[in-house]
Amino acid sequence: MKVLKFGGTSVGSVENLYKVKDILISDDDHKIVVCSAMSGVTDQLVNLIELLQLKDAEAITLHLHRLETKHNDLIDELIDEQTLRNDLKENISSIITEMIDISNQSFSEQISAILVTYGETLLTYIFSNYLTHIGVENILLDAKDFMHVDNVDTPNIKKVSSKLSEIITSKQSKIYITQGFVCRDHLGAVSTLKRGGSDYTATIIGAAIEAIEVQIWTDIDGLHNNDPRYVENTHPISHLTYNEAAELAYFGAKILHPQTVSPVVGKDIPVLLKNTFDPEAKGTVISNKTYKKGLKAISAKDKITAIKIKSNRMLMAHGYLKRIFEVFDTYHTSIDMITTSEIAISLTIDNTTNLDKIVKEIEVYAEVTVEPNHSIICIVGESVINDKSSYKLFEILNHIPVRMISYGGSNNNISILVDTKDKLSTLRFLNRKLFQTSTETVL
Ligand code: ADP
Ligand code: ASP
Ligand code: MG
Repeated sequence: MKVLKFGGTSVGSVENLYKVKDILISDDDHKIVVCSAMSGVTDQLVNLIELLQLKDAEAITLHLHRLETKHNDLIDELIDEQTLRNDLKENISSIITEMIDISNQSFSEQISAILVTYGETLLTYIFSNYLTHIGVENILLDAKDFMHVDNVDTPNIKKVSSKLSEIITSKQSKIYITQGFVCRDHLGAVSTLKRGGSDYTATIIGAAIEAIEVQIWTDIDGLHNNDPRYVENTHPISHLTYNEAAELAYFGAKILHPQTVSPVVGKDIPVLLKNTFDPEAKGTVISNKTYKKGLKAISAKDKITAIKIKSNRMLMAHGYLKRIFEVFDTYHTSIDMITTSEIAISLTIDNTTNLDKIVKEIEVYAEVTVEPNHSIICIVGESVINDKSSYKLFEILNHIPVRMISYGGSNNNISILVDTKDKLSTLRFLNRKLFQTSTETVL
């Protein structure tokens, strides 16, 4: 069995859904198909939740009706039979009424999680019915019946596996359609896998059913060597190892949710990144095989805060670092980069929820400086430091205002921290110097 995931753009219009349908019927394999919400819909739901907090009843109703119209328009274009069209619209209307009822309850995190997942519910309902209408046999599965994720870092693969195999055994079909993004937490409450989480849904399902592969279909021909939204002359990378892909995803390559790779590592299930609009393009294969060592790609992660901890007393003495790390641990704040000297430590975090408390505790025994608005630029590739072009990095660094640099945590990555205002120029400069002047490093 294979898992295929289609992102927001791929399911964002009738023309695109026709392309998805063509991909689904292009072979006879058994498939679980994970769909995102139509592009823009989850953003609209996030706005809706903000309106709920503001208790703006008029804007909420308007918002929900706009959502209903968008999905009704999709039904009008997809379904050519009047009776079915009316039935589907009636059910969409009931789903919207359900959302209005939920919106009227007093606001909580749980209400917010439930509402934000409705984009996937609406789209999969319509798409599954469309497929049935044109004779493509499929069964719609509610992801809330099997997607158990204790917290966002810990999917309960065993539970997903047993629930899913129970469901699949009782409802046999070649194609199953389900929603990405939504899950249940350890208490069984509805939760989400965070923005972009449908990629993660796909690999969790892939691991749970021991799929032969997971295909992630999106609007670009694979993972590029640099962010194509900001940098010209990028190219797709044909092969990446799990480790390389995990570093790139964690450090900002938007094409993949940060946790996408983790469920399938160790299971030897390849993840293919494919283009819905150019299915023949090779895309990127992520697996445990190393086809070529050396420099592969650059990504960038924003909203990074740098923290400098300075003390002329014993900073590097036995036990001192432990005390500092314990403070971050107490507040569940993970550290991305770290460098040390005899009298100071510089480190970075991306979650600043408890920053004030952390600073207060450390200030008892050290001087703390906080610098927000930084970006980590991550240069990735197995044994990247040995790459022929990496020697140029040291020369290049002369031209980049680097705040921190880190290498050695793994052989796969060199990370540099820059002020976010310098991020784009740094990405472009690195692209020119590391990739365009040395074609032999380009895979
Ligand atoms: P989907 O909705 O299908 O999940 P996303 O918008 O989440 O798609 O991811 C695809 C987008 O990621 C691409 O359109 C591209 O602009 C962006 N992107 C950012 N960095 C990269 C990269 N290194 N390689 C490919 N795409 C990237
Ligand atoms: N619809 C969700 C989002 O926009 C999940 C996803 O598309 O992967 O974040
Ligand atoms: Mg995505």
